[in-house]
Amino acid sequence: MHEMAYLKRIVNAVVTAGEQEGAKEIETIELVVGELRDFVDDFVQGYFSFCARGTIAEHATIIMERVPFTVQCQDCGKVYRFDLRDDSTTPCPACGSRNYRLKTGRELFIRNVRMVMPGEDACTAGDGGTLPDGHLPPLPTEAPDGRPVPAAAGC
Ligand SMILES: [Zn+2]
Repeated sequence: MHEMAYLKRIVNAVVTAGEQEGAKEIETIELVVGELRDFVDDFVQGYFSFCARGTIAEHATIIMERVPFTVQCQDCGKVYRFDLRDDSTTPCPACGSRNYRLKTGRELFIRNVRMVMPGEDACTAGDGGTLPDGHLPPLPTEAPDGRPVPAAAGC
């Protein structure tokens, strides 16, 4: 299960970042998750809390922003939604071409981490404890197990 490994890395990344910032607690973690990622909300929150036991991220709430699976036609440039379970969505709706490349759907990164700093209440932390994009190390981007990825999808 790749997602378990990812979640452990996310826990490690946010705990390390939070400790460096001197945070008292990690309040929320915003993840951007592509549709091709096998992340189920309840599982992610539960497993995250399990991994984070005893750390400053133990009570953090995971917020997942989903990114749909889209491809871009290489012949006419149209970006369209693609459903792996429905072959009829494979050809470009504009020109009928099957010459497509992956556009979105494999995202997996931490967009934002909200921390509680010493002396602050969780509800009044504001934006003072957030990290900018790119502050945390990127996660690996290989395809999750058991999900076919279109052969034409290059990264
Ligand atoms: Zn097209």
